[in-house]
Amino acid sequence: MTSPLRVAVLGASGRMGRAACAAVDDADDLELVARIGSSDSLDQVADAGAQVIVDLTVPSATQGNVLWAIEHGIHAVVGTTGWDDESRGAVRSALEKNPGIGVLIAPNFAIGAVLTMRFAEIAARYYESAEIIEMHHPDKLDAPSGTAQHTAAAIARGRADAGLGPIPDATEKDPDGARGALVEGVRVHAVRQRGLLAHEVVQFGGTGEQLILRHDSFDRVSFMPGVLLGVREVASHPGLTIGLDGYMDLG
Ligand code: NAP
Repeated sequence: MTSPLRVAVLGASGRMGRAACAAVDDADDLELVARIGSSDSLDQVADAGAQVIVDLTVPSATQGNVLWAIEHGIHAVVGTTGWDDESRGAVRSALEKNPGIGVLIAPNFAIGAVLTMRFAEIAARYYESAEIIEMHHPDKLDAPSGTAQHTAAAIARGRADAGLGPIPDATEKDPDGARGALVEGVRVHAVRQRGLLAHEVVQFGGTGEQLILRHDSFDRVSFMPGVLLGVREVASHPGLTIGLDGYMDLG
């Protein structure tokens, strides 16, 4: 019998971190060897012999945590938001010096949200209009969500593949930004409302018809199958992978 994979959770006392600790604890093939909070030293991760970290912390800490893991030969599964081209570039550079290490940065661990992004890329080829509405709890620090940004990028890829031009919009006057943010040429509307967790609606329009894709995460447990998939797969995918779909066979 192979020994369980040794996992450290960073941000262990946060909302996502608590759910991740419980999910790792419950999995027979995984062993939770360290629960790390903001006042703990990362040396505890190395001392515990962790093979994979799960980072569910804050945007200001996540890049440093991942670079530390790479330098210590530890794979990283990251759900924390706030990554940009510069921070991803720093991770790629660090991985060049440590080519056996895998890093997964997943804007959304919910399998249904990953599928929604893929379905949106396919649907985008066939519709003149597309807009995204992302809805979250009011304690979320960033807008629009990483998922909405990746969905917009997927729609932009689908439209480009189909040779579609800009989405039609005759708006000339919008002093209050009522038309939402423009991400990759796609309008994104962010709702923050008590009672919500994480929800996304992708709305496509063509002449005489509408297609709506919708995904709802009602509970943080919805993210855990994706977290566990990432933990189990990350060592088999050296280098940087953006998005859980990189570990799924979605064609
Ligand atoms: P949260 O409840 O605020 O938890 C964040 C935790 O990070 C806190 O417990 C905090 O500890 C800890 N922390 C801060 N700096 C740290 C450091 N340097 N080392 C270790 N721990 C540190 O937030 P959350 O709702 O769990 O969300 C965490 C992140 O996951 C956010 O970026 C969120 O957007 C993202 N998220 C991703 C997904 C996904 O599917 N990818 C889904 C939901 C949320 P202290 O309390 O001690 O400061």
